[in-house]
Amino acid sequence: MKLTIIGPWGGYPKVNAASAGYLLEHEGFRLLIDCGSGVLAKLQNIVQPEQLDAVIISHYHPDHIADIGVLQHARLIQGYLGKDMDTLPVYGHQSDQQEFSKLSYKNIMKGIAYEPNQELRVGPFKVTFLKTDHPVPCYAMRFEAGGKAIVYTADSSFKEEFISFSQGAEVLVCECNFYANQNGKSAGHMNSTDAGRFAREADVKQLILTHLPHYGNLTELLDEASKEYTGIIKLAEEFQVITI
Ligand SMILES: [Zn+2]
Repeated sequence: MKLTIIGPWGGYPKVNAASAGYLLEHEGFRLLIDCGSGVLAKLQNIVQPEQLDAVIISHYHPDHIADIGVLQHARLIQGYLGKDMDTLPVYGHQSDQQEFSKLSYKNIMKGIAYEPNQELRVGPFKVTFLKTDHPVPCYAMRFEAGGKAIVYTADSSFKEEFISFSQGAEVLVCECNFYANQNGKSAGHMNSTDAGRFAREADVKQLILTHLPHYGNLTELLDEASKEYTGIIKLAEEFQVITI
């Protein structure tokens, strides 16, 4: 599996950057995980909108879905220009019907509800879900292919169920919206200590901190998380590639 970070920022994109978006590839299949603000502009450095095979959405906060509408426009216009493409499946939960309905657009994109209690097959990926603790319904996802696993927490405060859900994953892409001296629980987010403890207890091989705050010295997040977890820790960066 090859994971490319498209947008590492929480809440909104930093100048000339993107909020949540991750491209996961395996055996030529291209899955976009979340499609936040700025993602479409950044994504085109790597893959064209008409080349995506599927999209999956963790929840319907703007920093995770803002660019769904423009992705629809891009595929519509590229279709007019003669690019041949199938309807793009966009997997999302159905707890919010109004938001779910916006995933579908003409015959360009089609919203498909995932059942959080069931395993989902998307191309070569087996996807399982865990409901997170966040102000709106949101799902963490575990992607498995080729005998390896990547876990993406999406947005959440820390919850014990994360540990078994993420056990032994090669990569944990963990939201880290707060510094150690801040408590993210009421906002539904984790801090660097939560992320480090999580990685240690789940025994993952690598920790990527993402959904980053817009203030402070981000390297402190690494220092703080490393007090809990002694494995490889990185800050998510635009176009960073993690291959496992
Ligand atoms: Zn959110």
